[in-house]
Amino acid sequence: MEKLYEGKAKIVYATEDPKEVLIFYKDDATAFNGLKKDTIKGKGRYNLAISKIFFDHLAQNGIKTHMVDVIDELTMRTKKTEIIKVEVVVRNIAAGSLCKRLGLPEGLELKKPILEFYYKDDALGDPLVNEYHIETLGVATKEELSEIATQALKINQLLQEFLKKRDLLLVDYKLEFGRFEGEILLSDEISPDTCRFWDKNTRKKLDKDRFRQDLGQITEAYEEVLKRLSY
Ligand code: UDP
Repeated sequence: MEKLYEGKAKIVYATEDPKEVLIFYKDDATAFNGLKKDTIKGKGRYNLAISKIFFDHLAQNGIKTHMVDVIDELTMRTKKTEIIKVEVVVRNIAAGSLCKRLGLPEGLELKKPILEFYYKDDALGDPLVNEYHIETLGVATKEELSEIATQALKINQLLQEFLKKRDLLLVDYKLEFGRFEGEILLSDEISPDTCRFWDKNTRKKLDKDRFRQDLGQITEAYEEVLKRLSY
């Protein structure tokens, strides 16, 4: 199969159908703009299984996603979307860059969700942008961005409810969307690599912060998230 693209955590391959691709989930992990690198054994398998559960749940609730099906434990078949170069971050609890930027304490429950956009550009280090920047850059139209924002907030409701039942807090997460046949589809992945999940009672971190902050037990945390989502 022809390799179309290799990213930090996934490889995209062409299929016999020009409208679909295969996405292979790697065990490689990076943080801090690629400065920290390692391999986390089993990560690809957990991230794919977790993403599938979320995509299935969202699809059942009216969110259109790029997922077609799962081929094996490391490979997902998806629609070949044209990725919109905006990372959409939704936050419910203060953590990470929000704390640094605004001086908020980690763990502060936000009165309402915060929606942020980052321009997907490695050379620029994915800068925080607003709707004016996005329109000026020509990355997405006003209408597209408005639909993305509506979808992101609906996804937030759905995921928060789903996770609460499983004793997990959805602290924050990053979504990506793509264009496909005149529609906008939720794309990329939804996993502990792209979300912050905390145990509801102990607030133990069950996500990539264990890697970023050298907290250990990374695989165990990803496994725990999958276990909780599976029942
Ligand atoms: N995130 C991501 N990819 C990125 C940047 C952020 O998946 O390139 C996720 C991250 O895992 C977290 C949320 O988006 O769940 C918010 O990240 P933040 O802006 O706090 O940045 P970080 O502290 O991860 O650098």
